[in-house]
Amino acid sequence: MSEVKKIAVVAGDGIGPEVVEEAIKVLRQTEELFGYKFELEHGLFGGIAIDEKGTPLPQDTLEMCQKADAVLLGAVGGPKWDNNPKELRPETGLLGIRKALGLFSNIRPAVVFDCLKDASTLKPEVLDGTDLIVVRELTGGIYFGEKFRRESANGGGQEAVDTCVYNVKEVERIAHQAFDIAQKRRKRLASVDKANVLETSRLWRETVVRVSEQYPDVELEHVLVDNCAMQLLRRPSSFDVIVTENMFGDILSDEAAMLTGSIGMLSSASLGEGSFGLYEPVHGSAPDIAGQGIANPIATILSVALMFRLSFGFGEAADVIERAVKNVLDAGHRTGDIAVDKSKAIGTTAMGDLIVAAMAR
Ligand code: NAD
Repeated sequence: MSEVKKIAVVAGDGIGPEVVEEAIKVLRQTEELFGYKFELEHGLFGGIAIDEKGTPLPQDTLEMCQKADAVLLGAVGGPKWDNNPKELRPETGLLGIRKALGLFSNIRPAVVFDCLKDASTLKPEVLDGTDLIVVRELTGGIYFGEKFRRESANGGGQEAVDTCVYNVKEVERIAHQAFDIAQKRRKRLASVDKANVLETSRLWRETVVRVSEQYPDVELEHVLVDNCAMQLLRRPSSFDVIVTENMFGDILSDEAAMLTGSIGMLSSASLGEGSFGLYEPVHGSAPDIAGQGIANPIATILSVALMFRLSFGFGEAADVIERAVKNVLDAGHRTGDIAVDKSKAIGTTAMGDLIVAAMAR
């Protein structure tokens, strides 16, 4: 019998519980197919936790996540809590959980499914074969450096200063993570920086080069961030794994996401040391469609595939999930967000059931 993996489930608000339910069906199906054993524990998080416990991240939910091998998160937030003070906002729980779990990188795959190429704003021939991952550093850089205002020395009035700081250890740990991911894929890593101008980028590049010596099987290229932004639109299929610092990653991962055309399809992971990770769809709680049973569960289902690959080393099961999603889409099944003919769209549960059925074949 295989080892039991503990998964903490925090479904959250809006469509969170609806899409997480379908992802759990997929998890359970892999128990049948591969003999895995998962122990799922559920916790309150986000708006629902504010309503029931008076805080977006209750202590028992956090402890449950800390004891787990991985966390599956739905989405949080909604108009009901939008005007709450900061400490009583669902998003504060998101920042809190990432910090408390020591998550320092965000991983976002951008995969273009052939049958959905028309949903993208790019020409289908440019998108052919696109399957990339952006690895973004989450804890350093200009977002977290010292910030202040002062009177400028040259009579320009008030000036504002944001400092960008990275140390070797921060770059090393994210570089190792990116090389590890590249090793499990097509073994190509693009490190993105602005080393022609920024000192932090020069340190970044030196460190990545040093770390690369431990990964001789991974081909490393350095791409300046402005060039990378262009190449993502010109030749997206030539990228495998992209690793970059916080702000560049923030921008490039959104750009890469748009290649695929629909927010309901995008999975993500946040990783810390070791194999622990938090997995969630990129989309939010979609209050406009919550409770209607029409949300697309694919982003959350693909987040389970990511969890299998990155936290558990269950690559074969991840392949089965991803292939099932592709086959269901190829057969023409669509939820409303990705359907051309909305009158033929299927609901959340039907999409989950079709994917589970396709896994068994
Ligand atoms: P959103 O991603 O929730 O929705 C944007 C649009 O995309 C909506 O029209 C929605 O119906 C649609 N959409 C999103 N996911 C979909 C899916 N799976 N299937 C079909 N359609 C889908 O973004 P928003 O409207 O800006 O935010 C709504 C709430 O979610 C806010 O409270 C926001 O703070 C929160 N939010 C949470 C997270 C998170 O939990 N990680 C991320 C982003 C936004």
